[in-house]
Amino acid sequence: MKTTFILSSALAIHAAIVAHEADIESLDRAIGDGDHYINIKRASEVIAGMYNELVPLPPDEVLQKIGTKLLSSIGGASGVLFASFFMEMAKVAKINGTNNKLEIAAAFAAGVQAIVQRGKATVGEKTMLDVLIPVSTTFTLSAAAGKTTAEICQALKDAADIGLESTRAMIATKGRAVGLGERGIGHLDPGAKSCQVMIHAVCNLILKD
Ligand code: ADP
Ligand code: MG
Repeated sequence: MKTTFILSSALAIHAAIVAHEADIESLDRAIGDGDHYINIKRASEVIAGMYNELVPLPPDEVLQKIGTKLLSSIGGASGVLFASFFMEMAKVAKINGTNNKLEIAAAFAAGVQAIVQRGKATVGEKTMLDVLIPVSTTFTLSAAAGKTTAEICQALKDAADIGLESTRAMIATKGRAVGLGERGIGHLDPGAKSCQVMIHAVCNLILKD
């Protein structure tokens, strides 16, 4: 995984988040406190704006700098969780490298595990993890099975869509939506939606090449 790919992904993510403002906004308004879109838009804007600073650095340092920037500049539960993702991914990328699909999948999985540890949540709690955990598992399994890049990207988008949809019927047991109890049923989780948007943005970028 090259630095230029990470930075192109950051730009694609920023554009996709802005394009999905209406969906993401309405979800956190329905079951959260309405700030998720602002948090995530600001996060993606700040990272996209670091292009010139990051472009000379190796991938693990880029990931580390993205993590620390998110930690210092983005509010909400999601800011801390995304920061943990990037900082842990950076650590594993530095130790093991990201020279092939399996290594990238391993770094991604470590990042998702950092979110699990920091937020003490898992699948089925109506959070971003309902997208990220199945995406990570699919990534590792399809990379290990020797699938092509195009096959992996399609599988990741499908896993993100199914994971997002699964949050609709859930009662939140983590995050702000907990207080809503059964009234949250019928709404998608905003963090799961923004993660699905980001996964699609990066996969579409790869599929375009
Ligand atoms: P806040 O909840 O502080 O207002 P955001 O609105 O930015 O922060 O983010 C809300 C999203 O964060 C939720 O939709 C959910 O996906 C995610 N989230 C909240 N708590 C957790 C947790 N403990 N583990 C994983 N994700 C969480
Ligand atoms: Mg919120």
